[in-house]
Amino acid sequence: MVLSHSGSPLVVLLGPPGAGKGTQAERLARGFGWKKISTGDLLRDEVARGTPLGRRVNEILQRGQLVPDDIMTDIVENFIAHHCPKGIILDGFPRTLAQAEALERCSQGKRLWVISIEVPEEEIMRRLSARRVCRKCGKIWNLNDKIWDHTPTPDGTHLDSEQATPRCDCGGELVVRDDDRPEIIAHRLEIYRQQTAPLVQFYRDRGQLIEIGGTGTPDDVFNKVCEELKRKLEVGSS
Ligand code: AMP
Repeated sequence: MVLSHSGSPLVVLLGPPGAGKGTQAERLARGFGWKKISTGDLLRDEVARGTPLGRRVNEILQRGQLVPDDIMTDIVENFIAHHCPKGIILDGFPRTLAQAEALERCSQGKRLWVISIEVPEEEIMRRLSARRVCRKCGKIWNLNDKIWDHTPTPDGTHLDSEQATPRCDCGGELVVRDDDRPEIIAHRLEIYRQQTAPLVQFYRDRGQLIEIGGTGTPDDVFNKVCEELKRKLEVGSS
């Protein structure tokens, strides 16, 4: 997909855990040829590699708490400064008012749009408790979709029983993310309500908010996101 626009857009995906930010960020990056950063993925990767940052944030992630603002802001400022492509997508940042203010300071000259993906809390709980991640390649699956039922395993057999161990299409075992355990999900949602949800009004006041219902299929949501985003970008560049 090619958009004729001048300037460099910076698109933030905002929404509770499980709203589908990661899926939409991935599709936008592919569709528009923009660079994306998913702060949660980046932190999990640091933990998996046992880097000094990973060791510092490991427990915070496991408890479902937020990593301190100064660490997150440094990571994202650095990313923005060193990636100057056609556009940038931020998935999982900002999550606090302090992070939003820092982003405002470092995004000068870019056109900032914030896509708020809205999903009711019962649906979030349903999605997160069925979310699985591949231990081998990191791909995200959802048992509600039952897609894995039809996935051939490397030896060519199909997993077609409810009792079968769900596997990724790469053959890797699908496991529950540490912070998708029920008690941690509830804590993450509480943190979202207290610290991140106020950003919706923050960006609404600035005229930068695009509100999207996130309950359809990923395709439905993506179509809505593209439609709104194109409209904004085309108006902005005319
Ligand atoms: P996510 O994959 O976006 O749900 O993020 C997973 C975890 O990474 C969160 O629960 C936080 O512990 C941490 N994290 C990711 N992004 C941020 C951020 N912008 N500020 C603070 N913590 C973050």
